[in-house]
Amino acid sequence: MIPCLDLKRQHQSIKKEIFEAFEKVYENTAFSGGPFVEEFEKSFARYCNTSYAVGVNNGTTALHLAMMALGIGQGDEVIIPANTFIATAWGVSHVGATPVFVDCDADTWEIDASKIEQAITSKTKAVIGVHLYGQPFDIDAVKQICDKHNLFLVEDAAQAQGAKYNGVNVGGFGEMACFSFYPGKNLGACGEAGGLSTNSEKYTKHLQSLRNHGSVVRYYHDEIGYNMRMGGLEGASLSVKLKYLDSWNNRRRAIAKRYLSEINNPKVKMQKQPAKTDSIFHLFVVTVENKDAFVKHLSDNGIAAAFHYPVPCHLQKAYAYLGYQAGDFPNSEYLAYHCVSLPMFAELTDEEVNTVIDVVNKY
Ligand SMILES: *Cc1c(COP(=O)(O)O)cnc(C)c1O
Repeated sequence: MIPCLDLKRQHQSIKKEIFEAFEKVYENTAFSGGPFVEEFEKSFARYCNTSYAVGVNNGTTALHLAMMALGIGQGDEVIIPANTFIATAWGVSHVGATPVFVDCDADTWEIDASKIEQAITSKTKAVIGVHLYGQPFDIDAVKQICDKHNLFLVEDAAQAQGAKYNGVNVGGFGEMACFSFYPGKNLGACGEAGGLSTNSEKYTKHLQSLRNHGSVVRYYHDEIGYNMRMGGLEGASLSVKLKYLDSWNNRRRAIAKRYLSEINNPKVKMQKQPAKTDSIFHLFVVTVENKDAFVKHLSDNGIAAAFHYPVPCHLQKAYAYLGYQAGDFPNSEYLAYHCVSLPMFAELTDEEVNTVIDVVNKY
């Protein structure tokens, strides 16, 4: 079976280096925050072309802290796409604010900028754009709307470490960007981790305090805070892996290029890649009318598939209280019910890629 994602291949190739890094953390007993996290923060900020990066314990936390640092809370509304991993909405909910969903574009599957203005009310404070599947959303269009209405722009870049927009790595286009370093992401820690990038010193200091019990000076607590620090082992593993990220991303781009040009089955639709965007293909999602038959065909021919994501956010049980209905966001709903993720990771062999293309074309 060709897997959708096989983390073992990558981790075998860097095992020695990772274990050496773990040994240093162990010798220093720098398990929580500390020098190995700081070292990663410095190099990750450089990678994002931002002045600062703040490491935290996961990507959901990053979104939560972003909302807190922006002063968003009870009674506020934040606009997000209906087709994203649910955690984009959790950050908003965790501060007591309300997520307001908008539909995606039918072809790029990214947040549809032309739908944002009609969702803005006097309570709207921010828009969280998601670089879905590793492809940047239409940042220029969304930013223009945010500027016009005085809204904060936050990037959910959990799937997009190293993706480029107009030739520049994502992470510095809004007030802040939120990243997940969950093991399965393009840059994944050996453990749970997340982070934020920003050009603002003010946000950075606030985020550093919030993640550490609302404290700058030990045992003095300026506000109600959290324990959301990144672990030292996670930080050390991320510093090792960051060195390889561009080459892994480029291998994914090469595989995607082959899928995009060599899959020519008219029953299979792929994500449109606008000229300004340079995706890192965290996932390679296609849509097909008869998803079950397609998945069976793949599986009968030794190819695993996955679904990202089968239920759009506005129809999740957790958000039933918001009163959205089926049919509210037709493009997001179509995507949810017809999406199939094909195998996509840097260590796929050319032979495996040949097989995927062949089997998809024979459907
Ligand atoms: C993975 C992911 C998150 C959450 O990150 P965790 O580290 O799993 O908490 C948030 N948003 C998007 C779009 C994601 O893919």
